[in-house]
Amino acid sequence: MEIADLPVPPELAAGYAQQGITELYPPQAACVEAGLFSGKNLLIAIPTASGKTLVAEMAMHHQVEGGGKCLYIVPLRALASEKFEEFSGKGLRVGIATGDFDRRDDYLGRNDIIVATSEKVDSLLRNRTPWLAEITMLVVDEVHLIDDSSRGATLEMVIAKLRHKNPGMQIIALSATIGNPQDLAGWLDAELVESDWRPVDLREGVFYQDTIRFADHDREVERRSKYEDLDLVLDTVAEGGQCLVFVSSRKNAEAFAKRAASGLKLANPVLAGYADKLRSNAATDMGRTLAACVAQGAAFHHAGLSREERRIVETGFREGQIKAIASTPTLAAGLNLPARRVIVRDYLRFNAGEGMVPIPVREYRQMAGRAGRPHLDPYGEAVLIAKAEEMVDELFDCYIGAPAEDVRSRCADEAVLCTHILSLIATGFARETGEVLGFMDGTFYAHQGESPLALSRAVHRVIEFLREAEMITEVGEWLEATEYGSLVSRLYIDPRSAEVIVTAMTGQKEYTDIGLLHLLCSTPDMPTLYVRRNDMYLLDRFLADHRKDLWVEIPWDAGEEFDRSLKTALLLADWADEVGEDTICERYSVGPGDIYGMVESVAWLVHASRHLAALFAPHLVRPIEEMELRTKHGIKKELLPLIRLRGIGRARARRLFNNGLGSIEALREAGPEKVGKILGQGIAARIFEQLEGARDEVGEIGDEQSTLFRFG
Ligand code: ADP
Repeated sequence: MEIADLPVPPELAAGYAQQGITELYPPQAACVEAGLFSGKNLLIAIPTASGKTLVAEMAMHHQVEGGGKCLYIVPLRALASEKFEEFSGKGLRVGIATGDFDRRDDYLGRNDIIVATSEKVDSLLRNRTPWLAEITMLVVDEVHLIDDSSRGATLEMVIAKLRHKNPGMQIIALSATIGNPQDLAGWLDAELVESDWRPVDLREGVFYQDTIRFADHDREVERRSKYEDLDLVLDTVAEGGQCLVFVSSRKNAEAFAKRAASGLKLANPVLAGYADKLRSNAATDMGRTLAACVAQGAAFHHAGLSREERRIVETGFREGQIKAIASTPTLAAGLNLPARRVIVRDYLRFNAGEGMVPIPVREYRQMAGRAGRPHLDPYGEAVLIAKAEEMVDELFDCYIGAPAEDVRSRCADEAVLCTHILSLIATGFARETGEVLGFMDGTFYAHQGESPLALSRAVHRVIEFLREAEMITEVGEWLEATEYGSLVSRLYIDPRSAEVIVTAMTGQKEYTDIGLLHLLCSTPDMPTLYVRRNDMYLLDRFLADHRKDLWVEIPWDAGEEFDRSLKTALLLADWADEVGEDTICERYSVGPGDIYGMVESVAWLVHASRHLAALFAPHLVRPIEEMELRTKHGIKKELLPLIRLRGIGRARARRLFNNGLGSIEALREAGPEKVGKILGQGIAARIFEQLEGARDEVGEIGDEQSTLFRFG
């Protein structure tokens, strides 16, 4: 099927043609036949890289040409930016929405395509964003993630709410191969397009003792090193390919990258350039190890890396310079980096409470699906490594030949329901228990016919909790959100977190940084750090000296949960006290990426707690507002006046302050030349442009919600 013959704008077709895309792949053609351009809902369950995004993009352009507006939901922030860039510059107005959960973002509605994470869409719904009613096409990327234990329910509820709101909207759901696509298609009233066609031939096999066994042939792997897994990498590199190696932990990823580097021993100016960049930014041993590996053509990739480190590794791999990346499996979903050979070295993974468990088939397929770069590799290979001979057949049966798991709803979990039921009531989707249950009837959970009694009981219990917490109340026969309840819903935090925060704050006279941070780290919304035996000394020493600064009583049976929240709070307090990144990484055994992850999570909770304080503990508003900026930027209080300037971050503000320039007034008095000597002329010019602007407008720079730090 030729793209030029499809009802899409000629400029779009011409753009594709320039990239050499003129004809549809067979599964793409099947989508057109199934009603892509005639308003039919579609569930497209086809392998990675077989052209799902292109199908969605064509459908969106067709939709906009007919006067419609499209919402494209993605599971991860990183994917939102990737899709935003992919859709931009092709004639349509494209917007992106990820953070800041209490804004309506009305201006976003001016766009034809809005790319957003499911959490952001949920918050837009809670904030009654008007343009959501104008959405005529909903694209859901990676829809199988409604089965994700932590975030799946939000995605499911968002789909259900949007369908409830816009019944005529066309839905295009994109999915990896799953066990029960009919079920999901049935829920979405969608035509199912299912296929295992791939643009590059995929060979799947199991490696044991120098041989990869594929279904129809064996392939010998030459011994080139002491390590079998390394031989698998060197083998592919020798024939001009690249490798992705999935291992079970960060430590293993780093260890494998070191091994691969010393096996590859590449050296060229481009690699040296990447390594220099990495080394000059490296604040930790991890960063320096990464630089050393990259210099020789290997890298590791996991959530501990900083954004810049990731970017360099990904670019180096895409450009073909880095030959092997060792990665943790959690990154398979986000990492769009195809390679000739994918090695699944560890198929067991540590799950808290369960020990080492085999990864699901769906995850294996996601990793295997990265094998083979279209147009570049003659074929892709996915290789599992067997540790014993009897494992060879078992791995064939359990992964290569096994059907993918069914997708199941996560909606009946009470903790999840709590958040969503409050929002249903606060936004008027449901006004009494019957209507809540009626709404839940439209979920995948109900469609799958899972226990209706269990759901109904859970709904009743949640409504009782919300009533007792005074987040909802009865007005006549209707349920309504109280001011508190509707604030919690808009702030997009778990009502149970809000309860923890409010209860602690109302009894609190004295503000302390650690009291606030530890309180927030004790809520269900905050991810916390794993505690090692070595950390106990740090925790005990803190408790010996500062126990009274905590806002939360130490439970008499304090266990791991308490230790984790305290460790996380101490890390954040260090961050807000300007302790250096390298010291923090060492002190808490984390990577820079973890620091940012924790800071991002807590920043939202600090923000939310400021709004809660305004309602329940007004005397805490001001110090919490200060802490909001301090956690965001990682600065002591004394730098607050400087941090509002654009271009001034943690390090520059500190340099100014240490040179006696601790306020806007002091900067003005010093003048551009002196400031230039400290920070460089370019940045000084930018600062003084802002100072001039601020004098004219008598306004503030930065966060418009805040009134605390106006320019004097
Ligand atoms: P998916 O979303 O399924 O992972 P994409 O839509 O991103 O896949 O497509 C993967 C790659 O294949 C992209 O580089 C895309 O430009 C290319 N591609 C998609 N459709 C075609 C086609 N019909 N012909 C040639 N290349 C295509």
